[in-house]
Amino acid sequence: MTFPKLSLNPARLGFNILIILLFILLFIFPNPAGPFFTIAKILLFIGLVFNLFRDMASDGKDREKRIESPSIENERSNFPSEHSTDQSRRFYDNLLSSVFGLLKALNESYRGALYMVDPMSNGFTLQNSSSGEFIDFVPKENQILTTILTSDETVLFQQKDSGIFWDAIFNTNDWRGSECLLGIRVVYRGITVGCLLVFIDHFNKLEQQDRQVISIISQFIAQGIEKIERTEELFSDRENHSRITALLGKIELGSDDDAILETILELCRQLFSYDKLTISLARSGSDVATTKLVDGFTQDIGPNQDFPLDDTLHGRLHRGKKVLLSSYWEKDFSDSGRFKIGDTDLFNFMSVAGVPFKINQELSGAIMLERLSSRQFSESDLWLLETLGETLGPILEWSSNYQIIHQHATHDGLTKLLNHKSFLERFEEEISRSLRFQQDLVLLMMDLDKFKRVNDNYGHLHGDYVLRETADQLKKYIRNIDVVARYGGEEFAILLINTNKKKAMAVAKRIARAINGHRFIKDDIEIQMGISIGLAQYPADADRIKGLIAKADAAMYRVKGRGGNGVESH
Ligand code: GH3
Ligand code: MG
Ligand code: MG
Repeated sequence: MTFPKLSLNPARLGFNILIILLFILLFIFPNPAGPFFTIAKILLFIGLVFNLFRDMASDGKDREKRIESPSIENERSNFPSEHSTDQSRRFYDNLLSSVFGLLKALNESYRGALYMVDPMSNGFTLQNSSSGEFIDFVPKENQILTTILTSDETVLFQQKDSGIFWDAIFNTNDWRGSECLLGIRVVYRGITVGCLLVFIDHFNKLEQQDRQVISIISQFIAQGIEKIERTEELFSDRENHSRITALLGKIELGSDDDAILETILELCRQLFSYDKLTISLARSGSDVATTKLVDGFTQDIGPNQDFPLDDTLHGRLHRGKKVLLSSYWEKDFSDSGRFKIGDTDLFNFMSVAGVPFKINQELSGAIMLERLSSRQFSESDLWLLETLGETLGPILEWSSNYQIIHQHATHDGLTKLLNHKSFLERFEEEISRSLRFQQDLVLLMMDLDKFKRVNDNYGHLHGDYVLRETADQLKKYIRNIDVVARYGGEEFAILLINTNKKKAMAVAKRIARAINGHRFIKDDIEIQMGISIGLAQYPADADRIKGLIAKADAAMYRVKGRGGNGVESH
């Protein structure tokens, strides 16, 4: 097998990986509900900005282009001149452990390792791992790693089938045979630069959907490297770096798009003078774009409004994918309107500067500045706009990918309800809240009766349908503040907030009746189901999660004992 050739120098690559992983961390764990990571996030973010722009600044010392602007002078003084490698190593380690933390969030037993191709030493070097059993260096002949490096998709290996190649990756020999390893390569500009390995101690624990998540993580790494390289090429001027540094440094850790756009708005107000700012997004294949952010003049168009892409100045950015700079756009461009045909008569906008930016395959964006006068926007305005686009595109993409990853990690793929782990976390939070407000809380543990016969008689797809349908039914009987989860196979759990057993009993009976009366119809087969429900109340029955679950479970099994399809409270 031929080994992929690397065009990146390993130190630089490692450095870039650091930055990418920092980005990943930033957008994979901006979880506002998880104060646990907040401190680490802030530290890492600072590290990201420092690292990225220190590197760029040192590259761009001899660039000739200089931009005159008083605000640049101000921001230059904020530019970090010194930076310790110890610190960057620490950020790197923190970051990788956060990536491994995400793997752990997917499944408690998952352990990750990142190996990078190391052409100098003819093999793969371990960057970091979430446990000590991964070996520091694996020779390039290892068939497990080379198979991963040549596959587009995640590849699965079982210990029992892998022999010496397995042993070359781990420094322990204590195997049961059921262990497996999931691997996905990291590809940068068409070149495979490394791979992410996930060790799973038992084959059965591997969830199909997790393969996708792991593959997305590897794509993050690849996209991130690419983004950094492009940014380096585009902005190798020292002043420019410092300006972007300041700009990036102002982006909040907030994960939702509105918060990001709000920060961009604040930046634009500081950096440019305009009468109207418009940021719009368009789906590929669509004939319209939608304004996401509008500042200044809004009589012509406000936020969240659609406008056509054809024959409009703003549409031109999405269609043409080129920057615009003109002090009298009507003279320079043939468009018959700004947002709609004929709107030029109503508003006298003259000078414009605009840039398109890419978010992902599906979505493109555009930022436009407009002035009512013919005062020309400068080259440096245009450059900064490009920077904004270059920054905003990946940020919006990462934020949307984060939503997907977060959904995968916290919800069950089949029923879309909270999964077991996230349910227990919410349970913990709700108990603290109930304690604080001196409220009661009722736990309902539910198990479908004789569910196995559905699988046995009609197949697993039919069983899956019954589980999904049950989940949809359960949601109808709870309030927004309550919590419903898939606790296990055909087991569900509900937390009824600020309520007592008497009231909860009524809800539970309604649920049991509803499930029993529901017509589960698929492929012309109608099935009747029963559900057994047990209740326990906090703090009257127990003041810990474990006790509450045990008591609600015991009540549930009493229902089962007398034939199922009913409710009992502890
Ligand atoms: P009981 O009345 O005692 O609760 O019996 P039961 O058949 O409902 O319970 P049992 O524990 O014997 O079987 C549960 C079955 O649920 C076994 C398992 O194969 C099936 N199961 C677990 N998860 C899924 C799933 O995601 N989809 C499908 N189709 N079946 C599942
Ligand atoms: Mg069960
Ligand atoms: Mg059951």
